[in-house]
Amino acid sequence: MSEAANARLQVDLQALAGNYATLSGATGASVAGVVKADAYGTGAEAVVPALAAAGCDVFFAGFLNGARQVRLLAPAATVFVLNPVIRTDATELLANGLIPCLYDPAEAVAFAETCEAAGQRPRIALHVDTGMHRLGMSATELAALRQHRLWPGFDIALLMSHLACADEPGHPLNERQLREFESLRRDFPGVPASLANSGGVFLGSRYHFDLVRPGIALYGHDPHYDGGRDRVTPVAELTVRIGQVAWISAGDSIGYGATVTVERETCVATLLAGYADGIPRALGDAALEPPPECWCAGRRVPVRGRISMDLTTLDVTACVPPPAPFSDRAEVFGRHIRLEEHARRLNTIPYELLTQVGNRVARAYRQ
Ligand SMILES: *Cc1c(COP(=O)(O)O)cnc(C)c1O
Repeated sequence: MSEAANARLQVDLQALAGNYATLSGATGASVAGVVKADAYGTGAEAVVPALAAAGCDVFFAGFLNGARQVRLLAPAATVFVLNPVIRTDATELLANGLIPCLYDPAEAVAFAETCEAAGQRPRIALHVDTGMHRLGMSATELAALRQHRLWPGFDIALLMSHLACADEPGHPLNERQLREFESLRRDFPGVPASLANSGGVFLGSRYHFDLVRPGIALYGHDPHYDGGRDRVTPVAELTVRIGQVAWISAGDSIGYGATVTVERETCVATLLAGYADGIPRALGDAALEPPPECWCAGRRVPVRGRISMDLTTLDVTACVPPPAPFSDRAEVFGRHIRLEEHARRLNTIPYELLTQVGNRVARAYRQ
């Protein structure tokens, strides 16, 4: 079914394993795999076992459901839940041996009470805020929690924090968060510590501590990528089958809103996937000059006309011979057109484009 699929996300598991090895080689710390949002859209079902086979034995899922899936796919692994909600998740976390990254002191107490009632010791990660101000306990909240009667029973598997600006090596907040984390860590001798995401790994060993938590770099995007040498290998390629190829005349327009009028005879290829499949509608914005490009019949071709829910139109006039409907495919991103290129044009990040690839898109895996 995947070969015949109109839209296909091809995921190279060998490149994924290679990226895991590259990150392992860049640090003396343990390397976890962050697999939230279905492994950044690439499909946890194949990606988790591939990472486990590459030596990864610690995973971070976003929410309970993703963590349960990881538990089934990698039964021996340590599985953390980044954004748990203890009031609804506590029993399931315990039953599946999942470790919540607790960011709220009241939730930490609630989890300890559930564990106490179940006759278990609460195994937890503590997420502390060192300056991102998105998620995590403040130093004051942490100090108060340490006074709680249940505190001595906590089995702290990890002390963690998250960097706000790890993708900007020169940003002063990195150093400030590092110092704050080092200071908080002094109260937790012997507890494993973790600060770095992908960007943090490439900030250098001072940021690594005991465990690093890369996500996007595993999937092939280096957050410090500047168009130069690649430290990681792209993993995902989105290709779409062409449904129609047609010549239109000078003065004709393409697509909804007739936003594009062609000045000469033009060959239009229509791809059988659209914004419902995760091809950003913004790629067809007529105000983008020059228009964003896809790869078709061995060359770059511009997106022309608005992207619709199921369909995308390309100007393939330059393709000689023109692509063949049904048998030819166009690459939206992948080896020829990098995810980073679209992200830059659309003022977003590769993370968003990758995780938005829709669930109609078949995932196919290269071993
Ligand atoms: C998403 C996330 C990561 C991974 O970030 P990347 O930039 O994809 O490497 C690590 N830690 C936390 C807390 C996260 O939310």
